Amino acid sequence: MKILFLDQSGKPGGAELCLIDIAKPYGDRALVGLFTDGPFKKLLQQHQIPVEVLATKPISVRKQSNLLQAATSLGQLTPLLAKVVQTAKKYDVIYANTQKALVIGALASFIAHRPLVYHLHDILSPEHFSQTNLRVAVTLANGFASLVIANSQASQTAFVAAGGRPELTEIVYNGFAPENYQPAESEVKKLQQQLELEGKFVVGHFSRLAPWKGQHILIEALTQCPPEVTVILVGDALFGEQDYVQKLHQQVATMGLEHRVKFLGFRTDIPQLMTACDLVAHTSTSPEPFGRVIVEAMLCGTPVVAAKAGGAMELVEHGSNGFLVTPGEPQELVQIIHTCLQETEITATIAKNAQAIARQRFDVTAINQQIASLLTQRWG
Ligand code: UDP
Repeated sequence: MKILFLDQSGKPGGAELCLIDIAKPYGDRALVGLFTDGPFKKLLQQHQIPVEVLATKPISVRKQSNLLQAATSLGQLTPLLAKVVQTAKKYDVIYANTQKALVIGALASFIAHRPLVYHLHDILSPEHFSQTNLRVAVTLANGFASLVIANSQASQTAFVAAGGRPELTEIVYNGFAPENYQPAESEVKKLQQQLELEGKFVVGHFSRLAPWKGQHILIEALTQCPPEVTVILVGDALFGEQDYVQKLHQQVATMGLEHRVKFLGFRTDIPQLMTACDLVAHTSTSPEPFGRVIVEAMLCGTPVVAAKAGGAMELVEHGSNGFLVTPGEPQELVQIIHTCLQETEITATIAKNAQAIARQRFDVTAINQQIASLLTQRWG
């Protein structure tokens, strides 16, 4: 089966990193068509995944755009649509990995007579999207997709609640290659030295910098933690959240935490950094559709605390393979940090348990098999 994957982003967010793992086994039988040039294209090339930027101009629809903006942007889409239709004729299936990819993919699927798969990496709720975008996504998925792959039960439930047809949906979690999350001890030590983390209790936050990812909650919690606790913030503002970045820097300065908070920007050595941490904190204030960072921390054998909402609740069982806290509540986070500092044996057992479960549950080979079966059942 030959697959045309479509993704709007030039930057590697969670959906894009997941796509790398899905597209890789198809080799030359797949093409990833992007709507924007950027670092994601380079990453795909590094993985020897065929990639082409199909758009001549970037598309300007935002998650919160209204009907008029959406209609205006539709006009900009015509050359891109023509290119996608022409390309799709050489492939058996169109696989839309993002919402704008769904818009183009749906129209192309109709014109080029190719079936459409929509991989849903979002919680389609008013918290995350405008009413217009919600309506467009659900209507197109219902009308054109033969299969909607939801990345969690939470994403599936939100899709159905927004009017999505339940019979289209299948839940498939993100897959990970466990061996990628076992960095050499020497690499981790070197990193600890470079970042001056030795002797500290390091809490890592791995996420793009965006208000709903809640980095500010962790910084607030840090004010009530003992002085040996240090925070590393790994990630950058991928989608123009510069105001939030500024606010975070201000918060750190106002609270006098400059020596205890390190902004590391976007990094590609996530397994090394996570292994160098004593705890990974996930602090999203809105429900997380899946939460790749939670599974990655587990695979590294680092204890993880996650905000109790959305997909995170499907990944973490409190006290068994990690910790859950109420979203937006720094006080509960402080308590978990204290627990990890004091109850080291229990915490280590929890992390070990999490690692063993995650290796099985999210094994990329099994997950890719699951996706391949869903596709061949329909079009094999
Ligand atoms: N990530 C990364 N470099 C960074 C920060 C994050 O490669 O500096 C990765 C992280 O390891 C994870 C992904 O970005 O695989 C984020 O996925 P997640 O599901 O946690 O959030 P999303 O970006 O999809 O909202």
